Amino acid sequence: MIEAEILSVECPFCRADIPGSARKCRHCGEWVNRPCEGCGTPLRAEWAARGVCVECVKRRREIQSHVEAPLATPIGRSRGLAIVLSFLGGGFGLHRFYLGRRLSGVLYLLFFWTGIPALLGIFEGFRLAFMNEWSFRKKYG
Ligand SMILES: [Zn+2]
Ligand SMILES: [Zn+2]
Repeated sequence: MIEAEILSVECPFCRADIPGSARKCRHCGEWVNRPCEGCGTPLRAEWAARGVCVECVKRRREIQSHVEAPLATPIGRSRGLAIVLSFLGGGFGLHRFYLGRRLSGVLYLLFFWTGIPALLGIFEGFRLAFMNEWSFRKKYG
């Protein structure tokens, strides 16, 4: 009897006496003792209810912020060069070829004598200039 009293602890959620070895409080159903699902560290009280230790919560936040961070270094096609090509070589569809849009590039080239492709090139140059980096990457890589 005395031994059982020593081993019993107070549930941090409902204050009922529960065995020290209990994983879940049988009175309120809250977790009082379980391993962290990330690293296996034994958790108690509020942390047991959450199921993860403070270190794993921190680590998860770091991973999340890393994933959500914008592209730091420009890779792939350069937006600056695409803009320059639109203005200077738009009439010949140079920016279209550069951006991997070959079919429309050929059309620009075929109709360059009408002057329309040059106008379109200027228009697209402005569009690229005002487009944000993220949507440029998404569209042209
Ligand atoms: Zn309880
Ligand atoms: Zn952990």
